[in-house]
Amino acid sequence: MGYTGRVKIPVCAGIPAAGNTTDPEILLVSVNAGFIHASLGLRSLLANLGEFESRAGILEGTRRLGVPALAAAVAELSPLIVGVSVSIWNHGESRELLSLLRSALPEVWLVVGGPEAGYLPADHGLFLHADVLIRGEGELAFARLCGELLGSAAGVVRRSGNAGLREISGHIPDLSGVQLPYARLHDSDLRHRLIYVETSRGCPFGCEFCLSSVQGRVRCFPLEPVLEEIRQLYARGGRWFKMIDRSFNIDIPRARRTLEFFLALFRSGRNPDAYVQFEVVPDRLPYELRDLISQFPPGTLRLEVGIQTFNNEVAARINRRQNQRKTLDNLAFLAHASPAVIHADLIIGLPGEDLASFAAGFDRLWQLRPGEIQLGVLKALPGTSLHRHDHAWGMVWNSEPPYEILQTGAIDRAVMDELKILAKYWELVVNRGRFPDLVERLLPLESDHSAFARFRTLSRALYAHFGRTWGIDAAELGEVAYNCLDASVYPGRT
Ligand code: SF4
Repeated sequence: MGYTGRVKIPVCAGIPAAGNTTDPEILLVSVNAGFIHASLGLRSLLANLGEFESRAGILEGTRRLGVPALAAAVAELSPLIVGVSVSIWNHGESRELLSLLRSALPEVWLVVGGPEAGYLPADHGLFLHADVLIRGEGELAFARLCGELLGSAAGVVRRSGNAGLREISGHIPDLSGVQLPYARLHDSDLRHRLIYVETSRGCPFGCEFCLSSVQGRVRCFPLEPVLEEIRQLYARGGRWFKMIDRSFNIDIPRARRTLEFFLALFRSGRNPDAYVQFEVVPDRLPYELRDLISQFPPGTLRLEVGIQTFNNEVAARINRRQNQRKTLDNLAFLAHASPAVIHADLIIGLPGEDLASFAAGFDRLWQLRPGEIQLGVLKALPGTSLHRHDHAWGMVWNSEPPYEILQTGAIDRAVMDELKILAKYWELVVNRGRFPDLVERLLPLESDHSAFARFRTLSRALYAHFGRTWGIDAAELGEVAYNCLDASVYPGRT
């Protein structure tokens, strides 16, 4: 379908939307992992469009909805500019979307940005159908581009033919000049979706696997206006706040003020199942923060604690600075003496970390019993420097998103594949909390046996039975897991 002028066609029902979705000239689009994720990035672009905001809207597809349905909804609205936000998780879907939009709307300006797009080379296939690539933070650059294409004295600039890819660097903005996007969330978003909030960007640390390590110094939004926005969202029914600051507890006074704010909010009890989630640096939790954390009502505070590895040599190799003694002390406090729900992360496949080291780290963490242990697989994100270890540490990667490690000099392909399967079963059997009795029997605290070894045995048995890690009925999973436990396959059975 070609450009047909400004027509008023209702957007396909069921696609989360914001802004002008009646006759938008600018559409901001993403394919989200699920309905629950409301894109902060798209709303931030919308909020910073200035005079063009009333001419712009957002459509958020999901994997479940499918790319063709999203593309059809965009094509129906026939905008002049479409901005597509790309991450490693929607790379393939975004590529398909751009292709469908190019054939449906030959005259539309296709603009690509987002964390994945920003670091890929300009000749990458992702950009085959794109006209403009914005690298870096896009709010101000995208607004300027829209002004150029829609607002010039000569009128709208129409796309005619393929003029090649234009690259724009999104200059790092002073965050005090960036408009806050939160008022663009609908009441239904607040009731049913995660509310992503940022009070800062960047991280002072340099962990080589992490994109935040290459994004420069930490920059902060003025804190009180953000907290006031959160207060209004909560008053409108907002429940699940996910703070995406990469190191919430680096600036202790700001962290303290933020915790005090949420504590007062949740003590009001207005939205009973509300919670806030922070990502914390594990070795930096002074008494003043511990004291505040201790006061949160049960279930209202979730902390994501990045451990990644307990192996000091491996941590140093990837430029991760972490005081292990303080980390363990803080984790013990959080897990046993605070009401916070703890998600602790370990990474599989770090350069030079072998199976024995990973298993020892896993056992150490399990002894502390955080609420959840998330087992992530190492990824070489474009823009990071992990590839410098390829030769020395035998790193072999999947070149397709999400760029996972396939094998290392310390963990061969077969074991790596097994660990990826184990990570998925860990999620299904332990993290989802469906089988607490089974977990207690399988992985007792008072045991001389390695929790990792015992779960590995179960994981092998489950995979031998199911042959897959997806689409497994929970009741059947439980039945098979209990049968494995009852069979005499475990050392030191309980
Ligand atoms: S992993 Fe965490 S601490 Fe390390 S650079 Fe990334 S955000 Fe910062």
